[in-house]
This record gives sequence, C-alpha cells and structure tokens, in this order.
Amino acid sequence: DYRKGGYHPVSVGDRYDNGRYIVLRKLGWGHFSTVWLTLDTMTDTHVALKIVKSANRYTDSALEEIKLLECVKKTNPEAKGYRHVAQLLDHFWHQGPYGKHACMTFEVLGESLLSLMKRYNYKGIPQNIVKRISKQVLEGLDYLHRECGIVHTDLKPENVLVWIPNIEDYLKKDTAEILSDIKQKEAISLASSPTQLQPQNQPWLSESESAGLSKSKRKRLKKKKKMKSLQEAREEALENGDTGDLEDKMGNLKISTSWKRPKEIKVIPSSILDITSIEVDKEGLQVFDDIVVKIADLGNACWMDGEYTHVIQTRQYRSPEVIVGCKWTNEADMWSAACMIFELLTGEFLFDPRAGSKYNKDDDHLAQMLELMRTVPKVLISGGEFSREFFDRTGKLRQIKRLRYRRLRDVLHDTFLVPPEDADAASTFLLPMLEMDMAKRAPASQMLESPWLQESA
Ligand code: ATP
Ligand code: MG
Ligand code: MG
Repeated sequence: DYRKGGYHPVSVGDRYDNGRYIVLRKLGWGHFSTVWLTLDTMTDTHVALKIVKSANRYTDSALEEIKLLECVKKTNPEAKGYRHVAQLLDHFWHQGPYGKHACMTFEVLGESLLSLMKRYNYKGIPQNIVKRISKQVLEGLDYLHRECGIVHTDLKPENVLVWIPNIEDYLKKDTAEILSDIKQKEAISLASSPTQLQPQNQPWLSESESAGLSKSKRKRLKKKKKMKSLQEAREEALENGDTGDLEDKMGNLKISTSWKRPKEIKVIPSSILDITSIEVDKEGLQVFDDIVVKIADLGNACWMDGEYTHVIQTRQYRSPEVIVGCKWTNEADMWSAACMIFELLTGEFLFDPRAGSKYNKDDDHLAQMLELMRTVPKVLISGGEFSREFFDRTGKLRQIKRLRYRRLRDVLHDTFLVPPEDADAASTFLLPMLEMDMAKRAPASQMLESPWLQESA
C-alpha cells in the first residue's frame, strides 16, 4: 500500500508541518492511515500523528473525519462523556512522493481494548474492569449521540484506546534517547549526502508527469482510476477488519533517517505504551485501579441527520437493521456496544457469521441473532431494502431453517463458565442493547442508569 494514492512512507526522524512534529516511532495503522508517535516541538509534548492515504476517497473521508472531530471538540467540553472520546489537536496537509496526505494529531493514547483482551489470553477481562470500561464507552457514546448528533458506526475493541496517566513523564525518558540517536544519524547523513535530509522535498509523481509514462504503466494507472468509490473502500475495510497496532503486526520498529528506508539502525522494543509495564512502573502508575478509555477513530462516523443508505460497522458488530438495509441511526452503535462488551467479558465474538454452501454471511448472521433473540420485528421482515432476500412473509429465514435457540445467560454460563448470578446480571444488562427492533433498543443515556454499571463505581 506504499504507492501512489496509498500510505505515506514515514521514517523515524522525519519532520512534519514545517518541522514542528518529529517522528519517534510507529503506534499503529489501519485501512486508511498509519499513526505515529511524534514530538510536538512547539509545545514540547508528545502527540499521535495520523497520516491518511492520499487517494481522493481517503482524503475526502479524512476531511469529513476532521469536521466531525471539530464538532466533538467544541460541542460541550463539560459533558461527562467528553473525556471518553479521543480529541483532535491539530490538522494539516503533507505532500509526499505518493500524493497529498491529510494529517491529524491527537493526544497519545495507549493500547486498544483488543490488546487488553490479548493480555488476558482471550479468556475475558475481569468483570469489574469491564464494568468500568463499559460505563465510560457508554458515556462517550451518549456524548456523541445526544450532544454532537454523531453516529460512530465502527465501535469495536480496536477503536477504544486506553488513556495512560502521566504519559508525558513516561515517554520523555525514551524520547531523549531516540532524539539523540536521530541527531547523530542526521549529522552523519548530512556529511555524506545533504539532500537526504529533506524528505518532504522529494519529487513526487504529478499528473502531468504520469502522461509521459510507458503504455503498460498508463494502462495500470487508468485501471486504478476506476478505483472503487470511497464507500466500497470502507466496506472492504469493515469486512476484513484491516487494522493493527505494533504488537499485532509490526513487532519491533526499525529507525532510519531518510524516507528511502529501511536502513536498520536501532531497534526499539515495542513496549513503550505497554500498560503492563506501566502497572509496575516505579512511579506507581496503577492503570488497572483507574482505567480510563476513549473512543477513537471517527473515520467512519457520520451525522445523525445525514444519509444512511450504506453498509456500516465491522462484520461482527453489525446490527440487524444494517444487514437488511433499513434506515439506521445511532441505535446501531448500541448494538455494537453490546457485542463489544460481551467480547470483553468472554474474549470471544458474540456473533461470528460464516458463509455456507447454501447461505451467505448475512443469512448466517441473522440466524445467529435469531437464535439468541428469537423474534424478528416487522420492520426488519419487510421494511429493509433487502428484507425479502432474507425473510419469507411469515418472518422465517429463507436460507436457514434449523435454528438452535439459546439464551444469553446460558451462553455466558455454559460456554464461558460465568457464575450463574453474574451471567444473569450481565445478560440483563446486555439484552436492552440487543433489541432487534432499533426503535425499542435502549439508548446510551438509558443504559447509563443500569444497576450493572453502578456496582462498578
Ligand atoms: P481503520 O482501518 O480502523 O479505520 P484508521 O486508518 O482510520 O483505521 P485509526 O483506527 O484511527 O486508523 O488508527 C490506527 C491505529 O493506530 C489504532 O488502531 C491504534 O492502534 C493506533 N492509534 C490511533 N490513534 C492513536 C492515539 N491517539 N494514540 C495511540 N495510538 C493510536
Ligand atoms: Mg481503527
Ligand atoms: Mg478509521
């Protein structure tokens, strides 16, 4: 994906926004962008720099993300949920060899809830921690929905990040070392080849230059021009869950000083933002006693009063109204929230549909929902653009006839060995968010009143 229209090639030591931000290490990546830990030399603090792919559809999406993030920032800083949504700090453009990239900076956050789940070997995060996380995520959603009029549309463990207290103190130690290393390498490469130090000024392929390309290259470019629409790109990302952080996919990180990498100089362990190491930090930062999380990645978010005709949400967190093609809105986030909280508790997806020889993923997904919820409201049977493909007139699934009904509390108890009382309580908490009829589904404000959450205080 490092090509025209794709990711911008970034190296440790690169400077952005006229030298203001110095890249220190990679934090993660997604379908749309790569994200880097940088030092903001103007404020002498660390920020996360998100550099979006340069093709038009990604740039358009980034511009929308910036608008939404600005609304989140301005609407009501006093709201309880304000601190549970990752806030935009700054944004600017960067011209690179593969095109013009939208760049955004955010407060540096720690690992995602997916990494946190891994830490518990996918056997579930302790209930008391899940309760605290759930409360904060619901507060964040309540803020997005009621105050900002925004639907997140892609709530899942990867998109909720842990906030780390005193992160500046923690990062500064490593930064001093990395910076001295960068300066040393810069001095060496300045002596040998002065032009290498200005990665931002490297020439990139402009449209007029591409006119002089060979036949085959032109053909390829033409083919690329038929690129899928932004929506298709998003849908592809949602189906494939194409995202990652250092721990997932990168392992350790190589430093080099020019963007023509990789020239291995030094390997930094990927544990800087590892909350386990913070747990045992000398300064006594006990993250688990005060865990704070923030909803991140508003890259797929949209306005509640906007158009909603397309497919949203990563597969496992997708709501029934989206599958059957009904008009969806903020209730879709509540469905995802329930799927995510179940996963935090158990370490496994609530719904994980597969295609079979006689049915597709959507059929299987609806079947799994029905096995748990038993009945389908009329609005889904006949009200969606694709309802007819899935349901017959009586509300039975066309492709899958045999359903194995089960109760949520039994799944928790029998499959995941949750003690009966806890299973009952968790299921009572989750079911209002899993209401098949979106009109009856509990909003975040109502969920925040739930007794299950009060016990976590
Ligand atoms: P997606 O494919 O999920 O839409 P994306 O390209 O929009 O991804 P993000 O999800 O915003 O990108 O970020 C990608 C990854 O970068 C995150 O999963 C996370 O690991 C890391 N990341 C993002 N923002 C921050 C931050 N503020 N602090 C630390 N790490 C971050
Ligand atoms: Mg993401
Ligand atoms: Mg995104």
